[in-house]
Amino acid sequence: MRVKKMDRPNSGIRCVVNTCEYYMHGDHCSAEMIEVQPPNARDTQETDCVTFTPKS
Ligand code: SF4
Repeated sequence: MRVKKMDRPNSGIRCVVNTCEYYMHGDHCSAEMIEVQPPNARDTQETDCVTFTPKS
């Protein structure tokens, strides 16, 4: 899912995935919105941000 990259952190999100295009220094995410999958996940291991895009 491709979403708008903002020039500031999305204050509701903390993320440490520093290999993502939307990652911002200080464990911030600059995506306007994120999508988390999948349905029926049972724990955090099974839960992923599908907005993740590898840093180009
Ligand atoms: S899009 Fe997802 S993986 Fe990427 S920085 Fe934001 S929360 Fe983290």
